[in-house]
Amino acid sequence: MITSDILLRIIENMVNTIKENKDYLTELDAKIGDSDHGINMDKGFSAVLEKLPSLKEKDCGTILKTVAMVLISKVGGASGPLYGTVFLKGAAVVQDKMEINEEDAVAIFDEAIKGVKMRGKAEKGDKTMLDALIPAYEDFKDSIENGEDIVKASYNAQKAAYEGVEYTKEIIAKKGRASYLGERSIGHQDPGATSSYLLLKTIWKTLD
Ligand code: ADP
Ligand code: MG
Ligand code: MG
Repeated sequence: MITSDILLRIIENMVNTIKENKDYLTELDAKIGDSDHGINMDKGFSAVLEKLPSLKEKDCGTILKTVAMVLISKVGGASGPLYGTVFLKGAAVVQDKMEINEEDAVAIFDEAIKGVKMRGKAEKGDKTMLDALIPAYEDFKDSIENGEDIVKASYNAQKAAYEGVEYTKEIIAKKGRASYLGERSIGHQDPGATSSYLLLKTIWKTLD
């Protein structure tokens, strides 16, 4: 069970994770994009941090929706609207709820991925954030269905996301700026898949 208090702590830790990895994510984007993924993400999450005090005592839906709106409005680039979609779709699942149970968490993950796919017109294997998010979701869902607790399920999810990030090194980018490179994108890991992994790891670390 994730209470709204714990949810706020997860988000605060996400802000820190992105700040700590700002340069790393930007360097990854320098190889196959336009050297701004860390900058974009940090700009958005820093703006999220400013909103956190106003979200104390609020329901999980309001918290997630506020994060979504800030990311959509503050992050330039592809990743802003896509991560915004993740939080917005998640918000709809837990509207007016003060806690997120295991089933809700699976549904949030599912809706978030459907939203990213629809918005970005990408699929697994296109070398995007979906290559981290989809395997993570599958392992998360399996874990919950097998009766694992949310801590173990989120551990499994971030581990699957890490493997997804490794996989992005082997494939050709089909979406986003990296797709302009075609075969030359092979050998480089996707920045957005990497930020997704880091955010999922932050969820696990916060719950553990
Ligand atoms: P931009 O490419 O506009 O500079 P960012 O550098 O912030 O934006 O984000 C790039 C990341 O966004 C990529 O590494 C990829 O993971 C993700 N991305 C780009 N296009 C798509 C898409 N259509 N669907 C899913 N993810 C995408
Ligand atoms: Mg970029
Ligand atoms: Mg850009």
